[in-house]
Amino acid sequence: MDEKIYSVAVDGPSGAGKSTLAKAAAARLGIVYVDTGAIYRSIGYAVFRRGLDPKDAAVTSVLPELTIEMRYGTDGLQRMYLNGEDVTEEIRRPEISLYASGVSAIGEVRAFLLQMQRDLAKKSSVIMDGRDIGTVVLPDADVKIYLTASVEMRAKRRMLELEQRGTPQPFDEVLRQIEDRDWADMHRDVAPLRQAEDAVVVDTSSLDFEESLDRLLTVIREGLTH
Ligand code: C5P
Repeated sequence: MDEKIYSVAVDGPSGAGKSTLAKAAAARLGIVYVDTGAIYRSIGYAVFRRGLDPKDAAVTSVLPELTIEMRYGTDGLQRMYLNGEDVTEEIRRPEISLYASGVSAIGEVRAFLLQMQRDLAKKSSVIMDGRDIGTVVLPDADVKIYLTASVEMRAKRRMLELEQRGTPQPFDEVLRQIEDRDWADMHRDVAPLRQAEDAVVVDTSSLDFEESLDRLLTVIREGLTH
């Protein structure tokens, strides 16, 4: 299993637990975890700092000025650098989610990031999470998973996460933001969020973390032996 380079694509809506689960699965499998949402967030953050509207076509003219790098710390965690500056923490701010979602609907932004994501999967075995990994970025991924959960459950989990980060928000507000982001991600013209035909659906609504991880690892192991 580990001699050959392989790739696992994990797509799904916001708050389904993709990053936490994919990170844990990568650690178990001894492969690299790539959080592609962090790349879109870095562009969103650059646009936010320039005071631009994330949906404006003017975003495209900023792209040549941006260098986005992904580096792995000694703890194995992915850190994001925007023009050499570590923006790993800043890109997690709730308002940056909407900027990320806004810029991600622009075709030029997606094209700008496509090769970078594909190159990462050529270098080593990866588990890559996002919205279009199984459909666009790695259509030949060895295993494709569509990870989802009910919108209420996703909002509940996101609310807890925000509380733990010290930036609490009311449930209704979190729910509305998740619904807005789902709608935008599923209805954009370029690379909308959808389940790849050959993806295995994992619904974590009634599963706890360990159960979800077990399920994910089982799907991956089964997928790799076929
Ligand atoms: O996964 P995360 O919530 O950090 O992603 C932020 C936003 O980036 C998503 O709402 C989505 O609009 C966008 N995104 C995307 N394609 C990906 C990963 C993220 O469009 N592969």
